[in-house]
Amino acid sequence: TYEKIEVPAEGKDEMAQMGHEFNDMMGQLESNFKKQEQFVSNASHELKTPLTVIESYARLLSRRGFDDLSVAKEAVGAILGESIRMKDMIEQMLHLARNQEHVAFKFEETDINSLVEKTLQPMRHAHARDFILEGNGSVVVVTDAEKLRQLLFILLDNARKYSEREIKTTISKNETSISIAVTDYGNGIPKEALPHIFDRFYRVHEDRNRKTGGTGLGLAIAKELADGLGAELNIESSVGVGTTFRIIMPKKQILTDF
Ligand code: ADP
Repeated sequence: TYEKIEVPAEGKDEMAQMGHEFNDMMGQLESNFKKQEQFVSNASHELKTPLTVIESYARLLSRRGFDDLSVAKEAVGAILGESIRMKDMIEQMLHLARNQEHVAFKFEETDINSLVEKTLQPMRHAHARDFILEGNGSVVVVTDAEKLRQLLFILLDNARKYSEREIKTTISKNETSISIAVTDYGNGIPKEALPHIFDRFYRVHEDRNRKTGGTGLGLAIAKELADGLGAELNIESSVGVGTTFRIIMPKKQILTDF
């Protein structure tokens, strides 16, 4: 905490103005620092969980794994799974840290249809699932293609993880904007969870207990990418029906039209 500067009640003069600015700046710094502290504390906690599992299975392995092949198999499987989870988590944390340094986004004319198709195609190969694309004609937007692709991938991968049916991607536009919507027909997200959905490490209760191997960092990264792209990221979800995430880009970034 810092000592607030006393500012004269009638903040008309220059000194008062500077005082206000100083207080605002310090308040901002303090809040950033608290966020960083919170992040480090959450990160340590989240990394400790898989590490504890790894440690206990390694102990089991050394105690009984050499005599009992089934124990060895189980332990090695668990150690491998948790190691992969930790690696993913660290990669995602580094990604967030790098994004905070405001690594320059490279904006260029990007054909949205072909970008979406290029993102969908590898997913069709990797997963036995219908990834449908709706919206025709071509639309070119000034954006960072690679970052937009990363953002879209996070949404598609979540849709795949948290649903079992087809996944629909829709490109559309209105007077002021163009949007890319990713819709799934999965479990949906409870209303009370929606305000937290973009928080780092947040996972809906049942998903924390499921073995989907998530980290709770994907949507936090998605939100930062959207911010960097000057796009909005909206969500509509209803339990038992499904979820739609929508990336909305302002029309001023559109060059050509449908
Ligand atoms: P992760 O998927 O690694 O847990 P995310 O930050 O990507 O982390 O998502 C946070 C949580 O939001 C998930 O754990 C899940 O509970 C919920 N979620 C995200 N996308 C969907 C979706 N399409 N359908 C249902 N729940 C979702």
